[in-house]
Amino acid sequence: MKTVIFRADDPQTPKKAAEIIRAGGLVAIPTETVYGLGANAMDEAAVAKIFQAKGRPQDNPLIIHISCADELERYCHDIPQSAYLLAERFWPGPLTMVLPVRDCIPKSTVSGNDTVAVRCPKTAVTRALIAEAGVPIAAPSANLSGKPSTTTAEHVLNDYGEDGLIDAIIDGGPSAVGVESTIVDLTGVRPRLLRPGGVTPEELKALLGELEIDRAIFSQISNDTVVRAPGMKYKHYAPSAEVYIVTGSGEAAAAYVRRHYEQGDAVLCFEEELPLFADCNPTAYGRRADVNTLSAGLFAALRSLDRPEIKRIYARCPEGGGVAYAVGNRLKKAAAFRCIDAEAEL
Ligand code: AMP
Ligand code: MG
Repeated sequence: MKTVIFRADDPQTPKKAAEIIRAGGLVAIPTETVYGLGANAMDEAAVAKIFQAKGRPQDNPLIIHISCADELERYCHDIPQSAYLLAERFWPGPLTMVLPVRDCIPKSTVSGNDTVAVRCPKTAVTRALIAEAGVPIAAPSANLSGKPSTTTAEHVLNDYGEDGLIDAIIDGGPSAVGVESTIVDLTGVRPRLLRPGGVTPEELKALLGELEIDRAIFSQISNDTVVRAPGMKYKHYAPSAEVYIVTGSGEAAAAYVRRHYEQGDAVLCFEEELPLFADCNPTAYGRRADVNTLSAGLFAALRSLDRPEIKRIYARCPEGGGVAYAVGNRLKKAAAFRCIDAEAEL
């Protein structure tokens, strides 16, 4: 069977896709963060298909997606007041909360944890699908494990082909945010940021009063370390080339790259800096002046650079808080935290 492509604006799509989900199939779903590879979160066999199709390690738990905040209590217990506050302010939207899980969610969905990550996505067709299916949809990012995330239906097709490895894709156009959801763990003494995303640390702190930042966000975690979110330790978001972040002014970075440039090198930069890197095979992923264009364009650009002839990528990375914090985190992970200070190399 070939993979079916549904259009997001076809009124029949939620119903048709829900039939596939209820029958235990895989449907790639558009969300405002990235495309997810979805299955019935309550069906162990369906969830196993997600891990298999992606080549995802079994100890990396899935996020479950619900159609509205009222469904939270079906799947979680001992929900703190902070979760309701966050849901009211940021749902539907790019925020995932980690909460104690009820027994109705199979152990394989949460990789044996006693917690579950839950999100209510903004994209209307996907919420309609979840409501129609009547079950939560477990969905990690729809990329093959270890590859840059998928922000279009075409990216999903590129990873899995058309030959029915996944049953259907709902084409909802490019994801607006472009980086995965913010994850906040509410099961500890203090709320803890596990992954930055479209909901910023500043917004969370303003609402929660306090927020711990997990060290996996800004440093490399070795594979034998026990971490709160197992997914944190895996290589992520990376094309096959080695990525290096080059910090400093555009001029200093361009001077450094020109001095070291070899065949097989490429540059991932801001649109404003394209002229500076003109001789060094540059690809822009958005405008420095508008960080939302950087988050929306990052994964498509990383995918376009995922070609065998490209061996090394010098990347320019936005600095600071807000959404730049999430973009910087993804790029640094893709670079395994390798940074070159171009100003010091002048
Ligand atoms: P992705 O597969 O790209 O959608 O990422 C899902 C992320 O959510 C991974 O980093 C997981 O480790 C994280 N996650 C899922 N469930 C939990 C959980 N119960 N506790 C902590 N992190 C979780
Ligand atoms: Mg992922």
